[in-house]
Amino acid sequence: MRIDIITVLPELLESPFNHSIVKRAKDKKLVEINIINLRDFTNDKYKSVDDYAFGGGAGMVMMIEPIYKAIEKLKSERHYDEIIYTSPDGEKFNQKMANQLSLKNNIIILAGHYKGVDQRIRDNLITREISIGDYVLSGGELPAAAITDAIVRLIPGAISDEQSALSDSFQDDLLAPPVYTRPADFNGWKVPEILLSGHTAKIENWRHEQSEERTSRLRPDLFGNDGEK
Ligand code: SAM
Repeated sequence: MRIDIITVLPELLESPFNHSIVKRAKDKKLVEINIINLRDFTNDKYKSVDDYAFGGGAGMVMMIEPIYKAIEKLKSERHYDEIIYTSPDGEKFNQKMANQLSLKNNIIILAGHYKGVDQRIRDNLITREISIGDYVLSGGELPAAAITDAIVRLIPGAISDEQSALSDSFQDDLLAPPVYTRPADFNGWKVPEILLSGHTAKIENWRHEQSEERTSRLRPDLFGNDGEK
């Protein structure tokens, strides 16, 4: 899989992909992540990629031309399954979308800035718009990093114990059960007895009950839907 992220702030994306599961997935060649500097696609001598909004008002708008050139260059080299724009008004990102996207071959993620990108980019080049939540960040780099991380950890082989990703929250519309490690007793705070019993079937049953209890208490909206809420 290949993920190309177009950004005006490549420095912001240096660290997130160089640690832990994402780094290992890159090292194993399960994913290639490229950071593309949008400023490489402007002829402007100041390398600017934004301009005033037509109609006036506060805030700058990301210009069409550099984005168009960057996307067209990438598209001339390979087919892209999705060209994603990160935006607060996009579809709310969730585990189901991460699962779908982890099955794709090539994805572009465009990180916005300022007041956002010229609408004509969204109308003509973008195939999917994704929000990571109902709040506004300064730029699309952190959303791009969050989306990429969620996708990459689902690629088969990215996590050594694949069950670990499959048993995470939201994979089956349930929150994950509580987890414990040694010591079994810390200052009188004890681990539930069942987890020390060695009885695998009973432990699995307990975990499922805990997942259901937590989901009904904390996220009742997840019950009975396919994770699209
Ligand atoms: N004017 C835009 C609005 O009100 O929807 C917000 C622009 S925001 C300051 C700059 C950029 O950050 C956006 O173009 C988008 O790429 C990114 N961004 C901010 N919040 C986001 C969120 N919740 N999800 C995804 N991207 C976000």
